[in-house]
Amino acid sequence: MKVYLDNSATTAVDIDVVKEMLPYFSDIYGNASSFHSFGRNARTKMEKARSLCASLINAKPEEIYFTGCGTEADNIALLGIAEAVCPSANSRKGHIITTKIEHHAVLYTSQKLEKLGFDVSYLSIDQEGFISLDELKKTIRDDTFLISIMHANNEIGTLQPIEKVSALLKEINKDRKNKIYLHSDCVQTAGKMSIDVQKMGVDALAVSAHKFNGPKGVGFLYVKSATPISPVMFGGHHEGNIRPGTENTPYIIAIAKALELSIEHMESHQKQVLFLREKLKSGIVKAVPEVLINGSADNSIPHILNVSFKFIEGEALLARLDAAGIAVSTGSACATGDGSSHVLAALGIDPIAAQGAIRFSLGHANTEQEIDYVLSVLPEITLSLRKMSPLWKGN
Ligand code: PLP
Repeated sequence: MKVYLDNSATTAVDIDVVKEMLPYFSDIYGNASSFHSFGRNARTKMEKARSLCASLINAKPEEIYFTGCGTEADNIALLGIAEAVCPSANSRKGHIITTKIEHHAVLYTSQKLEKLGFDVSYLSIDQEGFISLDELKKTIRDDTFLISIMHANNEIGTLQPIEKVSALLKEINKDRKNKIYLHSDCVQTAGKMSIDVQKMGVDALAVSAHKFNGPKGVGFLYVKSATPISPVMFGGHHEGNIRPGTENTPYIIAIAKALELSIEHMESHQKQVLFLREKLKSGIVKAVPEVLINGSADNSIPHILNVSFKFIEGEALLARLDAAGIAVSTGSACATGDGSSHVLAALGIDPIAAQGAIRFSLGHANTEQEIDYVLSVLPEITLSLRKMSPLWKGN
């Protein structure tokens, strides 16, 4: 049996999404920026896709900038806002706040901003993965201009209180000359949970299609009207000057269709995924001793389950599960090769538990039979691996 439980890394493209985008490769193939009818036909459909994406997150079409992926959207948000707020090399003294558990798309970009002269503070998290609003409040300085906090973490699934953060900023911004802007990486939540930019109160957010059954290589950045943002890439006037380069019409059409379908089926998919996750979780806790569930039990995205199997090397468990036809991940797929997980380190769990952490990420295509199969092979695999560990005292 083959079981794919790595849906946070990527998902299969929905066949209806493929059907929607196919004509735009070879039939309606004009450059959306060309004036002739070929170009205009592509542009018309692309602008419909923009309007659809906008309406699905309660934004305006002109606030949507299509990008090459979620990473690019995060980069443009952070670098572009920093560039617009502090345009001159000698004024790059502003302050940015983010968290210790962001995806590297935000973390590495923040490190780049530090090299450019900005100050960056990295908020800590509690044992369930939540930031503290008190710490955030205390970290804000007179020169703070940008806060970037992810919506849900890609390794442990914890959902951050974005609405509370934006409410706090609304209060603080009332008395400030220099506004603090709020960006949120919504790559793990878009298509899985309702995203309403008005309710969330964000100035920018990043989305990626391949996490919700769209193709890899397309995302979008929402930027609220009047938010200062400068281009960080150059070469054309596409996408409101923010993301130059010939528009990827088929993929732009695909992201809109994928988001539309995900939202249409969101309730039933959430129910199904949550049911399977809870079955997997309780099954593991019952059948495998010495496990630790990482993240929040009450406030997390439904599709992620992160489990530490103590006295086991996560990579070894991943390989044995793979041999049994089960695809999972240690930490996030994007961090593979980076060594240990910065997220689990920030959670403060002990290194033995961190080393044996596995992320199971479910999708609506998973079935109860698949979960039964995983639960049928897991106890034996974990026991045989533990018997190799000098630290394991069980039998
Ligand atoms: N942000 C988060 C939270 C993610 O999980 C990922 C991908 O795993 C990204 C950003 C990067 O998205 P993309 O793969 O589209 O570049």
